[in-house]
Amino acid sequence: MPSIKIVPIQFAQVEILEDLLPELSTHFRTEVILGSLPRFDLSPYFNPVRSQYDANEIIVELNKLVVGEMKIVGVTDLDLFIPVLKYIFGQAYLGGNAALISGYRLYNSRYGLPEDLNIFADRLKKCMIHELGHAFGLIHCQQPGCVMLPTTYVEEMDQKLTTMCSSCFAQLRENQR
Ligand SMILES: [Zn+2]
Ligand SMILES: [Zn+2]
Repeated sequence: MPSIKIVPIQFAQVEILEDLLPELSTHFRTEVILGSLPRFDLSPYFNPVRSQYDANEIIVELNKLVVGEMKIVGVTDLDLFIPVLKYIFGQAYLGGNAALISGYRLYNSRYGLPEDLNIFADRLKKCMIHELGHAFGLIHCQQPGCVMLPTTYVEEMDQKLTTMCSSCFAQLRENQR
């Protein structure tokens, strides 16, 4: 069973990630650790025209850090894009070993609302489980509330649960066998 390594990269809320580890470990039934990449510089992936960072290029770099059976998830506060979308909350490839999540658009303050780190933590958890779900081979789900629903806006994310529906969960366990 691949272990999961969560790696903050220019991400402020590391304590929130620490708090997430036990729940992720239960959900994915594997060891989840918080790692660090002291010299991982994202400036080469900055696109000056978009003022955003290229998620696909960063994932390529994260993939090079995978050792053995492992899923690695980079978490940053920088704003991410992929060429076909204006922005993304996160990105992972089906069955891939590396994923990337951005907290940039998960902060209430981004939307002119008072900051609420509990809400932020909830959103981050949803992104994390969603992208890890892809990394463990799950496709998008249309079941209302399922964390594997595709999400474009933060309001949609707030309507999702922090867990998978029973059929996604069954598929996850099947993929993990
Ligand atoms: Zn997705
Ligand atoms: Zn589902």
